Amino acid sequence: MSSERRYLLERVDDVAVVQLYADGFASLSLREKTLAWHLYLAALAGRDIYYDQRHALGLDMRSVLEAIVTHPNGVDPKVLHEVRRYAKLFWINSGPYNNITARKFVLRLTRQELFDAAQAAARNGATLGRRPSESVERLIDRLAPMFLDASVDPTVTSKTPGLGRDILTASSNNLYSGVTATQLETFTERYGLNSRLTADNGRLVEEVYRIGGRYDREIRGIIGHLRAAMPFATPSMSEALRALIQFYETGEDADRIAYDIAWVRDQESPVDTINGFVEVYMDPRGVKGAWEGIVSYVNETKTRDIQALAANAQWFEDRMPWDPRFRKPDVAGVTARAIEVIVETGDSGPLTAVGINLPNDQAIREKYGSKSVSLANVSDAYERSTPEAMRVEFSWSGEEADRAKKWGGFAQELTTAMHEIIGHGSGRMAPGVTEPPHRLLGEQYSSVEEARADLVALYFLPDAKLVELGIVPGDHHHEIVATEYEYYVRNALVQLRRVREGTQIEEDHMRNRQMIVSWLLAHTSAVEVRRRDGNTYYVMVNATAFREGVGRLLAEVQRIKGEGDAAAARDLFETYGVHFDPALRDEIVVRVDRLQLPSYTGFVMPRLETRRDDAGAIVDVEISYPCDLETQMLEYSAFARRDDVLEPRSAAR
Ligand SMILES: [Zn+2]
Repeated sequence: MSSERRYLLERVDDVAVVQLYADGFASLSLREKTLAWHLYLAALAGRDIYYDQRHALGLDMRSVLEAIVTHPNGVDPKVLHEVRRYAKLFWINSGPYNNITARKFVLRLTRQELFDAAQAAARNGATLGRRPSESVERLIDRLAPMFLDASVDPTVTSKTPGLGRDILTASSNNLYSGVTATQLETFTERYGLNSRLTADNGRLVEEVYRIGGRYDREIRGIIGHLRAAMPFATPSMSEALRALIQFYETGEDADRIAYDIAWVRDQESPVDTINGFVEVYMDPRGVKGAWEGIVSYVNETKTRDIQALAANAQWFEDRMPWDPRFRKPDVAGVTARAIEVIVETGDSGPLTAVGINLPNDQAIREKYGSKSVSLANVSDAYERSTPEAMRVEFSWSGEEADRAKKWGGFAQELTTAMHEIIGHGSGRMAPGVTEPPHRLLGEQYSSVEEARADLVALYFLPDAKLVELGIVPGDHHHEIVATEYEYYVRNALVQLRRVREGTQIEEDHMRNRQMIVSWLLAHTSAVEVRRRDGNTYYVMVNATAFREGVGRLLAEVQRIKGEGDAAAARDLFETYGVHFDPALRDEIVVRVDRLQLPSYTGFVMPRLETRRDDAGAIVDVEISYPCDLETQMLEYSAFARRDDVLEPRSAAR
């Protein structure tokens, strides 16, 4: 069956669109499926929050695009083609900004062409805007600069806007409105994670994301579906859902903490969800949470393989190559699982991570532990949709390319698991440091934390302990280490294809990977830059030197986090992680475009549907695969517009 399956569905510019499959869903019990169904609706119900957080006009822009796409009669075919191209990028990135470069992409039309298309859609009966009395003319006037002009609100998140510029005003997201970072220095935030901050006549106001506050409508919808899910949940999950509802109701940090703890404690349920304001990458300050919704279930087979890592977290902690004062004496329960994603929305989809470790709250991690998951079906779909040429083009030798083909999937999945379980889960703050590290490190925090987790994984990958635990086959250990190290240095080069404009990396994971490889190049003999036929290669030449260098760098990165040394963090990333040679990037872009290699991947999620008996009770939940981005995105948007499904309803219906 898998050979006939479609993974790569289409290419939109340099983006691959790939179908995600969740084979294990069908074997869940009816109760688990029904639970997943309600959580799935809760994930769809919050999706629009993220669009609004990315840009204040994001939802208005999406309405216009979807109106034209669904009412195309009389629209110039060339214009329609361009609207479709742009709309697909817009859906994949949840708004007008490239999620990786943080830069705006534009609709390649004139104002008149856009207006004519919108007018035609209106004539065909489309509801264009979200403001009832607005004319098409006024609507397009309001949105045209965002659609058409790359210089208007050019960057969603700008952590290093340049000397004298403010990180908040240089960033065009909707987490702040008219607020400068300087104003914040004398302001005490009460709802750091879950509010939009606005300046009202110079006075700062927190618009809290909660019932009765900002996103009231969406949050009511989410809560309704979470309530409907509760009767089908295990007792500990039910408790976590109750705590989540309370947090959505009050917005208070104490309730967020109670929820985080309840969520970490819920270890039994095979079906799980993440629903809320979670990751802070979009905020240049690294404080405000972007909304996301994920529903997943455990992949039992793959989970057995990686649980050994979690069970031995203390062994690794005791051997971390950093100052012993940063070692945790008692590693609290890290649970590690391989999961299969059913749906990801908001900040987590259509662009998705391959591993997640939550909660982000450092204090809760230290006391209660964390849940760490690797997204097995996402990794699998990535691997199956990666063109062979991607490995060959940037490998120095045939052996390197062969190793990548043979062990690449395995090595990367293992590295991701180690990154999440013994990476993010490890280490503690220096004695006496009470401020949380994200406050001390500010805009550098996320890059520091990602670097730390990667370095832990790279450092322990060659350790014989992995063979002893049965995680890595002893006969192939060297080959697997070489495969990962080679992949890692190659990636520093290949990832430049994602930053097609400018000379700066914004995305935190990309910054961290660039920093590590550039640092190794500068300080060790592990990596060489070679050229052949006008092409540049990063070649890993000495795995021992690589590991030794990684250990040294890790000691420093942990010190930076543990002491909250913001100056050292800035220096490290400014020197090695942020800037790159544009000529080298141009070379890489030419090479990947010649081979039509994608820069990143957007996923089409599985689709759930209920079968009900005559009384309306759910008798089965069926999973299917739409294999079409546009269909799915239009379905999700239509869902959010329907009031009836946003209301709480009894489980029987
Ligand atoms: Zn990470």
